[in-house]
Amino acid sequence: MEKKNIDWENLGFGYIKTDYRYVSDYKNGAWDEGGLTEDDNVVINECAGVLQYAQTVFEGLKAYTTEDGRIVTFRPDLNAERMVQSAERLEMPVFPADRFVDAVTQTVKANAAYVPPYGSGATLYIRPYMFGSNPVIGVKPADEYQFRVFTTPVGPYFKGGVKPLTIRVSDFDRAAPHGTGHIKAGLNYAMSLHAIVDAHKNGYDENMYLDAATRKKVEETGGANFLFVTKDNTVVTPKSNSILPSITRRSLIHVAEAYLGLKVEEREVYLDEVEEFAECGLCGTAAVISPVGKIVDHGKEIFLPSGMNEMGPVTKKLYDTLTGIQMGRIEAPEGWIHVIE
Ligand SMILES: *Cc1c(COP(=O)(O)O)cnc(C)c1O
Repeated sequence: MEKKNIDWENLGFGYIKTDYRYVSDYKNGAWDEGGLTEDDNVVINECAGVLQYAQTVFEGLKAYTTEDGRIVTFRPDLNAERMVQSAERLEMPVFPADRFVDAVTQTVKANAAYVPPYGSGATLYIRPYMFGSNPVIGVKPADEYQFRVFTTPVGPYFKGGVKPLTIRVSDFDRAAPHGTGHIKAGLNYAMSLHAIVDAHKNGYDENMYLDAATRKKVEETGGANFLFVTKDNTVVTPKSNSILPSITRRSLIHVAEAYLGLKVEEREVYLDEVEEFAECGLCGTAAVISPVGKIVDHGKEIFLPSGMNEMGPVTKKLYDTLTGIQMGRIEAPEGWIHVIE
């Protein structure tokens, strides 16, 4: 198969139309059989549930080429499972997990010419999502839904090298204690936009959100979970019901314990203790781990000992091991690598 003529190394993170996308419709209480289409437009009624009351959930994962030339995705079964949980919380019908993985597989296979070559650092980003599509004006769940998967090639995350982030403790909250912080809903992002625009305006890369109830505990950023490393190399990650369960974070925890022999603690993390940590990173599909160099809490600057030029040593080992597993250079745990072709 001939690859598209794309300058993979210099791609950014933006939408580029690829050839095929997957669509399945839910009507009269059932999903249709679904399939691929070349039509990249969605046509819905002006009063569609998603447009009025934001009834939409999504997922994000990547396809890439391994060292031995296979096209694979990483743990798509966990994305499928998480979308089930997201849908249930927003009173949407569940798109079956096995069909989710099949839809992702079909869409990537159909767009194989857009899967960047091994070593380019670029990947094919996959976006499954679902929304209420029929007219809804009285507040209630929609009766009809559409599930879609599209793909778009994206460039290497650390273009021009790793650059540790500067983040601020946010005065805005991301998620309420019994709200929707633990599901991947578009609404969580809509309300984070003001906070991130304001952070950027003030020279920060990201917001560190605290728990909304006490504002003493670290939760996560707008789109990535925290991993900290103590001075004696214990990996610490915040535990909370309002954090989105990152697949990258859960995978890194396994890597820390099973591959690197590190101690891991998933527990409440107080803002007060952050200055004791040796390293800090943000984990998510996009970057795997982005190191944090500095955290600013209302004028108080906390400098992580790993500095502003590179990843800390433990963060780096975690990053190298997980990306090694993903790219086929290190043996993966059973079931982590889903081969497309
Ligand atoms: C998607 C997301 C993450 C990262 O999850 P991954 O499964 O690792 O990509 C973290 N936090 C939030 C709020 C998210 O939406």
